Amino acid sequence: MSKEFNAFEMAQRQFDAVADKLQLDTGLRDLLRWPQREYHFTIPVTMDDGSVKVFKGFRVQHNDARGPAKGGIRFHPQETVDTVRALATWMTWKCAVVDIPLGGGKGGVICDPHDLSSREQQALCRGWVRQVAPNVGPVQDVPAPDVMTNPQHMVWILDEYEKLAGGHFPGFITGKPVEVGGSLGRTEATGYGVIFTVREAMKRHGMSIKGVRASLQGFGNVSQYAAKLFIELGGMVVAVSCWDNDDQCAYTFRKLDGIDVEYLLSITSRFGTIDKEKAGENGYEVLEAEAWLEQEVEILIPAALENQITGDNVGRISEKVKVLAEGANGPTTPEADAVLKEREIFVIPDFLANAGGVTCSYFEQVQCNMNFFWPKEEVLDRLDQKMTTAFRAVASLSEETGEYMRDAAYMIAIQRVATACHLRGWA
Ligand code: NAD
Repeated sequence: MSKEFNAFEMAQRQFDAVADKLQLDTGLRDLLRWPQREYHFTIPVTMDDGSVKVFKGFRVQHNDARGPAKGGIRFHPQETVDTVRALATWMTWKCAVVDIPLGGGKGGVICDPHDLSSREQQALCRGWVRQVAPNVGPVQDVPAPDVMTNPQHMVWILDEYEKLAGGHFPGFITGKPVEVGGSLGRTEATGYGVIFTVREAMKRHGMSIKGVRASLQGFGNVSQYAAKLFIELGGMVVAVSCWDNDDQCAYTFRKLDGIDVEYLLSITSRFGTIDKEKAGENGYEVLEAEAWLEQEVEILIPAALENQITGDNVGRISEKVKVLAEGANGPTTPEADAVLKEREIFVIPDFLANAGGVTCSYFEQVQCNMNFFWPKEEVLDRLDQKMTTAFRAVASLSEETGEYMRDAAYMIAIQRVATACHLRGWA
C-alpha cells in the first residue's frame, strides 16, 4: 500500500541530506529536524445562526535562533499539523537564505473561509490570536497572510492583539493594508524578486536580460510583476498561462513578438481568467495548458502552483532554456529536478527565487517598529540589494563546490541557522 505524502517527512528528508553534506553533529540535527514549539488549540466561534462552532488552530515555531519566527496563517479545510510543521521549517530556511534576522513559523486553521460570513471570519481571526497572544508578538513570532487569508484578516488579528497587549504594535503582523502600516512595494515584491535573481543568473551566463525571451506559468500576483519587470529590463515575455474558471482548465496565451501585460490585465476577470476571445482577436494564440513549458525561450518561470514540472512533462522543455526560476513554491517534482540537473539547466530554487515576499514583509516589520515608512523606490532598492546578495552567495557556493543550486541554497541556509544555534549554546 502506498504511504500518503507527508510534507513534514519530506522537509525532514531534505534537511537530513544537507545535514550529511554539512556534517552537522547529532545535537544540531536533532534540534533542527523538529519545531522548537507548537501550539494546538480550539477556537469557538458564535455563528450567524446563533450556534457555536469549534475550529482547530495551530501555530508552529520551527526555529527562532536568528530572530522572531516569521510565517503566514493558512485557512484551509485540509490543513494538518504536519503541513504547518513543514511550511514552518521551510520558512526557517527561506529567511536564512536571504539573510534576514528572522526564524521560521507557520499557522493554520482547519476551515473553509468560503463557508463563513465576513463576521464569522472576523470572529475566527480574533479567536485565533486570543489563543496564542502570549506566545507571539513583534519580538517573538510575526504572522502574515497565506493561503486563503488576506490583509483584512491581518488587520482583525492585529486589532485583537493590540487590545490584549494594551498598545499599538503594528510590527506584530505583516501583509497589512498600507493604510494600517503595510509596506509600499509588497505587491510587486515577490515577482520583482524573481527577476532580480534572473538578472543575476543571466550575468553569470555573460548575458543581460535585453533581447532575452521568457515564458511564465500563471498570470497572478507573482507572474504579473515578474513579467512587468522582465519587460522593463528589455526582455520579451512570449507566453503566460492562467486557469479558466468557466472551462475548468488552464490555457497558455502566446504572442511571439511579446505580450503586453497591461493589455492582458485589462481583459482578465476578477477571478483571474484571461478572456480567450478578446485575446484571440488581438493577436494572441490560445494554446493548451502546458504549452508555456515548451516555448523556445531562454528563461522559464513557473509561477502558479506546486508539482507542475514533473517526470512526465520535463522532456518538453526546449533545448534553448538556460535558466529556470521557481516563482511558485515547489513547482518541480524531485523526478523532474533530477532531469534539470542532468541537463545542466540553471535552476533558481523556490525558497531563494520567491523570497522577495518575505523580505518585503521583514521591511514592513522594520518600518512598523520604527514607525517610519519608506518610499516605494527605497523598499524596492533594498529588496534588490538583499535578493542580489543572496543569489550571489548561493551561485558562488554552487560554482566553487559543483553543488546543484538547490543544494547550495540549502547548505547556506542550514549552516546559518546551525551557526546561530551553536553560538547561542543550544547545541
Ligand atoms: P495568484 O493566486 O495571484 O496567481 C496564481 C496564478 O496561477 C493565477 O494566474 C491562476 O490563474 C494560475 N493558475 C492556477 N492554476 C493553474 C494551472 N493549473 N495552470 C496554469 N495556471 C494556473 O498566486 P500568486 O500569489 O501569484 O502565487 C503563485 C505561486 O507563488 C504560489 O505557489 C505561491 O505559493 C507562490 N508564492 C507567492 C508569493 C506572493 O507573495 N504572492 C510569495 C512566495 C511564493
